[in-house]
Formats: sequence, structure tokens, C-alpha cells
Amino acid sequence: MLDLLKAYFGFDRFLPLQEEIIAKVLAKRDTVVLMPTGGGKSLCYQLPALRLDGITLVVSPLIALMKDQVDGLLANGVPAGMLNSTMSAQDANRTQDLARQGKIKILYVAPERLALPGFQRFLQSLQVGLIAIDEAHCISEWGHEFRPDYRNLKSLRRDFPGVPVIALTATATKPVREDIVTQLGLKKPEIFISSFNRPNLTYTIEPKTDPLGSLLHLLEKHQGESAIVYRFSRKATEETAMELTDRGFSALPYHAGLERDLRRETQEKFIHDQVQIVVATVAFGMGIDKPDVRLVVHYDLPKTIEGYYQETGRAGRDGLPSDCVLFYSYGDRSKQEYFIGQIEDDDEREKARVKLDQLLGLCDLQTCRRAYLMEYLGEPWPKTDCGGCDICLLPREEFDATVIAQKILSAAIRTGERFGVNYLVDVLRGSANKAVRSRGHHELSVFGIARDVETDELKELVRSLVSKGLLAQQGSGYPTLGVSPQGRSFLNNREQLTLTRPKHAPAARQSALDQNGERETAYDTRLFDELAALRLQLATEREVPAYVIFGNKALQQMAFHTPQTEAEFAKISGVGDAKLREFSEPFLKVITEYLRANGQEVAPERVPVNAPKKKVRGISNSIRETRDLVAQGLSLEEVAEQRGISETTIRSHLERLVQEGHRVDVSHLLPDEDRRLEIEAAFKEMGETRLTPVRDFLGDDFTWEELAVVRLDLRQRLAQV
Ligand code: ADP
Ligand code: ZN
Repeated sequence: MLDLLKAYFGFDRFLPLQEEIIAKVLAKRDTVVLMPTGGGKSLCYQLPALRLDGITLVVSPLIALMKDQVDGLLANGVPAGMLNSTMSAQDANRTQDLARQGKIKILYVAPERLALPGFQRFLQSLQVGLIAIDEAHCISEWGHEFRPDYRNLKSLRRDFPGVPVIALTATATKPVREDIVTQLGLKKPEIFISSFNRPNLTYTIEPKTDPLGSLLHLLEKHQGESAIVYRFSRKATEETAMELTDRGFSALPYHAGLERDLRRETQEKFIHDQVQIVVATVAFGMGIDKPDVRLVVHYDLPKTIEGYYQETGRAGRDGLPSDCVLFYSYGDRSKQEYFIGQIEDDDEREKARVKLDQLLGLCDLQTCRRAYLMEYLGEPWPKTDCGGCDICLLPREEFDATVIAQKILSAAIRTGERFGVNYLVDVLRGSANKAVRSRGHHELSVFGIARDVETDELKELVRSLVSKGLLAQQGSGYPTLGVSPQGRSFLNNREQLTLTRPKHAPAARQSALDQNGERETAYDTRLFDELAALRLQLATEREVPAYVIFGNKALQQMAFHTPQTEAEFAKISGVGDAKLREFSEPFLKVITEYLRANGQEVAPERVPVNAPKKKVRGISNSIRETRDLVAQGLSLEEVAEQRGISETTIRSHLERLVQEGHRVDVSHLLPDEDRRLEIEAAFKEMGETRLTPVRDFLGDDFTWEELAVVRLDLRQRLAQV
């Protein structure tokens, strides 16, 4: 079995439970598999399919995904096919013929097909070795994704009495599990429940004061990586997508109100890395099996812990470290409570209230978030420090915040409750910048009353007051802060306030464990970039998502081990026989050339996985190409167009070049003299190197691109002095 695993899938060992499950399936037992997303469910039927006589039928509701799954199997040398409503009759007929001739080992079918009499006859003409029911919770009305079509599956059991059935789902609740067993008519099934902990996900819940600012910050950290941002309403998804696009990010909205075709197109673009960020309502997710989503943000409060767990679960299916961040505010909480109040049915309303309370419990927690989640999911959690949530990573202590809270609230009142967190902090810290002076706020008594508190700490305090409900925010994007009735009574009645703050220095982030429990290796990120560029090219030629060629894990291993022969290449995780034949040559070529260019006798520089890329000296070919095009006088837009990558990426190339001490002539990209000087002045006056505060300061008249280019120019000139 291990031989098959390596030969077809390129893996050296099984993930937890896979081996046990596969053994039962091969012994023709019915099985139910409950595993979290990313647990490796597919292999549990794909590997037996190679061993069993006859064809394996896989029923899956995720039509959008079928093609990618089949492409993935074909790339691994597994004869696979699919039948669903999106295909032409001709293609469907050809697939049916191949299946009847025994030339397909794994056949994906959509559940609605099963009701068609013609299809029944077709099935009867096959020798079926195994039936796999993916997303099996869809059969249960208790689940959140009930599909009437799934009730047709019962007939499969009747029509193929001796054939084992394997039902798989990531939904673990007991009623759903029981429903699966009875509805499918499973015979004495063996039930496998794996841990629902997702060790590679880091959970963070932070007060929502400057959500857009925080989001931009997160996206900067995850530059060029796939991200999902969940919002409460359809309108909000469109707003945020627009705000991100305005700032040069590649983002699209997704919600149930959009045309079906448009939704499908957006999904496709996301899967194929043609759009980086999708801003969505919870309607987005089902059908997104993208393995390399690195960031999931809940911009608004989710309704239940189940929802939160499921949505965050879409991050990091490939087992690599990923971030899940939720913005929490008192205002969002009231909004949810209001909506719950509108529910007419007493029972339903009460249920929703309980669910929300449980979620709020998670938000208000001062102890490990993972422990709370696991406990909620009914799984014992032994450890107190998980090393992967904001609380464990940054232990907190209580302190008396009465006086500082009074100062902050007073400052908000005295400045007219019209400003956001940054402005308020400027006033409190006594920074007499242009904006503050122009309004005469440097003459207020509150000006500089919190001079002794660091900027970041003040911002954090403001956030805490928002989540405590003493400050109320208005507007989205950069909301203004007002004092709530609760805040006024706090001031008037001289109430006491205790808050928590990080204890000592932040705890060092434990390096995340991967799914095999191994420490992440350190790899050469520059070589990784080159390999990823090759992967993209191969994927584009074949019209498949990049991950069908190789996952990030495989590329990281290549960039670490730098294999130089076929035998060495074969050892990389994810390289099976078929991929060895097809891809070893181009990848080995890139690796060898890279090593040669960097002096073969020197071992390549290796940096820790999560270290900022700037630690590696030198630049990749891709960045060099950008440099050359810009040097020829092309605009950012033209370079982006010519290279088929986004302007944000081009901009990041330029930043990188300057950081590495290369000279780039950006004079033709600069705005006219007046604007340039004004932007420069803002950077200097504010003592800022970040774009967001300067843009806040200057206002909407200036584009992000202008700011970024002026900053680049400034940096180069300063470096010369
Ligand atoms: P699920 O369907 O449970 O969400 P998948 O079947 O998509 O999970 O697998 C998740 C990821 O784990 C995929 O990228 C897959 O290639 C990888 N994977 C599966 N089995 C193994 C294994 N034995 N060793 C290494 N990686 C594996
Ligand atoms: Zn924790």
C-alpha cells in the first residue's frame, strides 16, 4: 500500500487514520469517515480504487470542483473521469464508453444524475468496486447543506448490494452522523472520527476599530497569497472588494445575489490564482477546495461557532501555516442581537441566542481559543498553551485602566466625536501635525494627555474600549469614534475599569507543526519563487490550477533539498511516478541553473520558513524582468499587462529591488512636481514609512500608486546621501 501511495500520489506515509480506513474499505466494510478539512479524505477512496476490481463511483455535489479533482488524478497517472450537467452530451458519452470498457478507475458523478433512468441503466452496465459519497452530510436535514438530490443515493445501496460504501464528511455532529448511516442504509459501518484540531491554523480575535487598516496589514503580510474575507451582508462584500481594489489589491466580491455565471467565474479565478482575494458572504466556501488559502478574515461577527470553525477551516488545507483572524466589536454584537430579536419562532430565536452567546464566549476569552473550540466540538483538549492562538502567543495580564480610559473618552468628546483611531491617538500623544493644527486641536486641554503611552498601546486601548462598548464606531472603512451612552455613564459615575494587556515581551511564535508532526524545514525562498514561476507556467499551459502540478509543500521541499538527479527528485513529497516522468526535467533544470548561478560549491542560503523574504540577498529572474521593463520607461500598468501579473506584484518587485540596494529609475512613474512635493512632505512630517497613515492624512485625492512611487523615490534618494 505504501508503494501505491508513493507511486501514484508521491507520499511516503499516511496521514492519521488513512491506513486504517483504507484497510476496512479493502475488506469491503461500509465506512463513515469524519475528518476535518485538509485531513486527507480523498485518499481514503482513491487509493482503494486502484486496488479493487472494477470502477469506483464518487458522488460529489461540488460540480465546480470535479474537473480539478479529475485533472489532479490524471496528473498522477490515475485514469479518472466525470459526469455532470456542465459537460456536452458528446463528452459524457465518451466518458460512459470508457467507463464501460473498464478504462476509467475513478468516476465522479453529480447526485442529480442518479434520478435519471438512462443513467441507472448505464450504472448497471458497469462493474462497480466501491461507492464513495463525498460531502455526505448533504444527505441530512440536520446538516447545514441539505441536498434533496442526496436522498437518491439510497438506491445505490439497493442496486449494488455487495459493494462497499464509504461516506465522507467534515461535519461531525452526532445527528448528522446517524442520519448518514440510516439514510444510506449502511451495514454495520465502521465509523472513523479523527481529531478536528487544525494544528496549522493560528486563531486571532481582535477588537474591530480600524478593520480596513488591519485587513490591509494582514494582506501585506500575505502578499500574493490566497485569502478569503467574510462579511455579513452582500452590500458589505462589494464595498470591501472595491476598497481593496482601489488600493491595488486583486479582489472580487461573492454572494448569493450575483449571477450564477459570475459566481462560477469568480470561483474559477480564485482557484486558478487569477484573483487573490474573495470578499464573500458565507455563501462562498462550499465548492472551494483550494488547498493554499493562507488567510481567512471574519470582518464581521459570525453567527455561530460551527460557522466560524467551518469558514476558518478553509484556510491551510495543505497543512502549511495559515492565519484566521476575526474582528470583533460591540456594535456587531448588537447588530446580531437585533437580527435575532426579529426571529418570530420562539424556539428558533432562543436557539440562535444561545449560539451567539457561545460565540461571544469565544471572543471574550482570556484563555486559549483552541481549547474552547475543541471543547465545543466535543473533543478533549489536554494542553493549555496551543502555541497557535492570539492568547497563547501573547499571554495577557489585568490592569486598572480607569484613568487612561477617562483620558481617551474625554479626548473623543473634546474633538467632537468625528475622528478615527489614528487621529485620536495623535491628539492624545500630542503630535501637532498639520491635520491636528489646522483644526486647532493642539490647543485643547486633552492634547498630549497620554504622551507617556506608546502609540501602539494607545491604539490597542482604544480598541479595547470599543469592544467593551464604551466607544462606539460609525461608518465602515475608517470609522469615526463616538462615546456611547455606556461610555458617558462610565465618565459621569466615575466607574472603575479593568482591562487586560500583553504580559512582558511577546512570546516567541512556535514554529508550526505540519501534518506529520514534523518541524517545518527551512528553504531557499528565492529558489521557491523560481519554482513557483515554472509551476504557474506549466499550469497555465495545461489549463489546470497550479496546485494540480505541485502543492506548496512539494516546492518547499525542492527549494530545501535542491534535488539534482531524478532519483533525488523522486523523494520529494508529492512526486509520484507520473509526475516524475512529466515534470522532473523542467524542475531539475531550474534547480540546477539556480545552483550554478549562485555558485554550486556554496550551499544555497537557507532561511526559516516564515522569515521575511528580504533576508535573502539578491533578486529572482522575475524581479529582474520587471526591473528591465521599468527601465525601458514602461508604466506599472504596462509592465503588469505585458507580464500577466498584477500591478501590486509589480510594485512589490520595485520595493524589493530598492530594498536590496538596486537603483531603479522611477522618474517617469512619479506624479507631477506639486503632488510629489506634497506627498513627500507628508511622509516627512509624519515621520512615516507606511502608506496607510499617509494616505489617511492626505485624503482620497491621492492614489496608492502615487504614494508608493514617491516613497520608492524618496528611499532611493535617502539611500544615496
Ligand atoms: P480533505 O478532503 O479531507 O479536505 P484532501 O483529500 O483534499 O483533504 O487532502 C488534503 C491535502 O493533504 C491535499 O493537499 C493532499 O494532497 C494531502 N495529502 C493527503 N494524503 C496525504 C499523505 N498521506 N501525505 C501527505 N499529504 C497528503
Ligand atoms: Zn491557544
